[in-house]
Amino acid sequence: METRCTFCQIVQGEKPAQILYQDENVIIFKDIHPHAPIHLLIVPKNHIRSLNDLTEQDQNIVCEMILRAREMAVKQGISKSGYKLLFNVERGGGQVIFHLHLHLLGGW
Ligand code: AMP
Ligand code: ZN
Repeated sequence: METRCTFCQIVQGEKPAQILYQDENVIIFKDIHPHAPIHLLIVPKNHIRSLNDLTEQDQNIVCEMILRAREMAVKQGISKSGYKLLFNVERGGGQVIFHLHLHLLGGW
């Protein structure tokens, strides 16, 4: 509850973001520094530090993130052309924001 990370601030409406979708568990917004024509972040509303911190109880949220990403690919018109889903894990894996997120990249 004390966590004040960037993505928690976006979830709580304290920091602006271009939000494309949200429900009870997941929020999706545009990456501020896109690495592809379409670059979205699929983020659980609850703070999970890293993929390394997932527990067996987190199975549902990970599955929801992937399904919401797939739906968003359809909505963005990149489902057929193709896209990448990417988790950066810890600093050596390129993780900069320590709140779990799934990158959706496409539109090339
Ligand atoms: P990662 O390297 O996997 O931790 O990815 C973090 C991503 O979050 C990067 O691609 C950043 O461009 C993006 N990012 C950081 N701050 C914000 C923000 N305030 N709004 C949207 N995207 C952000
Ligand atoms: Zn957070």
